Amino acid sequence: MAEPPRAYDGKHPGFLQSLLRRWVAAWMFVRRVPALERAAWWCSDRLVELASLIRQGSESMTLYRLEEPSPEQVLANVLRYNARASRVRKPPFDGRTWVAVVRCMDRKLDMGRVFGDMKFVDDIANPYGAVTPREIEALQLAVSKHGVRLVCLLTHTDCAALAVASGPDGSAWPLISAAVDATPRHIEALLQAPVIAPALKAGTLAVIRATVITGTDRLTDVRRYQPQTRAWEPVAS
Ligand SMILES: [Zn+2]
Repeated sequence: MAEPPRAYDGKHPGFLQSLLRRWVAAWMFVRRVPALERAAWWCSDRLVELASLIRQGSESMTLYRLEEPSPEQVLANVLRYNARASRVRKPPFDGRTWVAVVRCMDRKLDMGRVFGDMKFVDDIANPYGAVTPREIEALQLAVSKHGVRLVCLLTHTDCAALAVASGPDGSAWPLISAAVDATPRHIEALLQAPVIAPALKAGTLAVIRATVITGTDRLTDVRRYQPQTRAWEPVAS
């Protein structure tokens, strides 16, 4: 009887994976020398650009370059891309994420430029980055089940949802407007929530607020909540 395919256990890496691990180990050594680290970052950026260039030809990239695609074309491209991508062996992941973010759904924001590998981030997107009872529950789940140690509550510049909520058209978007208005109150509730408050007090969790500059993805006005003083203290960024 044929043996079933063995699940990837991370202990028997293929040749490329082994090469990659050695390269990463070498890079970790290089990081100790600032000039070499800067050079390594430069190389890394070029590799990302190269990967992006190669993927220009893939279904996922060309999909969004089509002029006025029909829903059928979009669906066919998604299914074709997924069929190919899912054939590639999936590395193991234990689901521990360390970071959770609540942020605006605006796709101009590139969270990969804030957090790096988004696989380790519980990413909660909604209009504005509103905090509502649903986000409070989601963040409590992230802390208690995914081991999250840092919660980031992000707004961003030129936010259409914020403009809508505070503009004359607010009544046409009642749920978004209400969620934006209620966010400060719900952030207070989040800090007192049964999973969050003890973790803050024990020092196993930090909650920050910040504004993302949409054009650069730079975090500004980063503030960390201090449970002792109940103040949002600025953090150098
Ligand atoms: Zn926005």
